Amino acid sequence: MSASIDLTTAIRSIPDYPKPGIIFRDITTLLGDAVAFRQAVDELVAPYKALGIDKVAGIEARGFILGGALAHQLGAGFVPIRKKGKLPHQTVRMAYSLEYGTDEMEIHVDALKPGEKVILTDDLIATGGTAEGAVKLIRQLGAEIVSACFVIDLPEIGGRKKLEALGVEVRTLVE
Ligand code: 5GP
Repeated sequence: MSASIDLTTAIRSIPDYPKPGIIFRDITTLLGDAVAFRQAVDELVAPYKALGIDKVAGIEARGFILGGALAHQLGAGFVPIRKKGKLPHQTVRMAYSLEYGTDEMEIHVDALKPGEKVILTDDLIATGGTAEGAVKLIRQLGAEIVSACFVIDLPEIGGRKKLEALGVEVRTLVE
């Protein structure tokens, strides 16, 4: 097995995006690096391999890229959680908090069955508002949220604590 790399070196920081004063953590560079992408996926799935996960739920849009890879590795199905109005079949909708204001996200009403074991994934957790909305949707369908995983945690913003307060285990690769 080859030595592991420091994943932080594969993530690009963009100052003043999307607005002045914000440093955006850009994972497209990690996704485009074959070694870093494989390592990130391998590290994310490792704790879940023996847990009999039924579905991986990914949050639009970067959570789709990671979620597809995780689902394949776990032999699980993939379920998209999308911004409102994008899913074609009947949905369940949930409001979630953004830094300023709220938005709504949806899941197909038949995407998860009661009791199914689900992992939630996205590229990054900041305030945790987006992931909190997704956890509520998963639970509303009666499925069990086993864990939530992210490549990047911004610990000073408190998202991990918000999810843990909901009883959700949180796993992240880099801070
Ligand atoms: P939260 O709801 O935890 O405050 O924000 C997390 C959501 O916003 C995730 O869907 C994530 O993709 C996106 N996001 C917020 N800031 C960044 C950032 O700096 N980099 C990336 N890649 N995504 C971000």
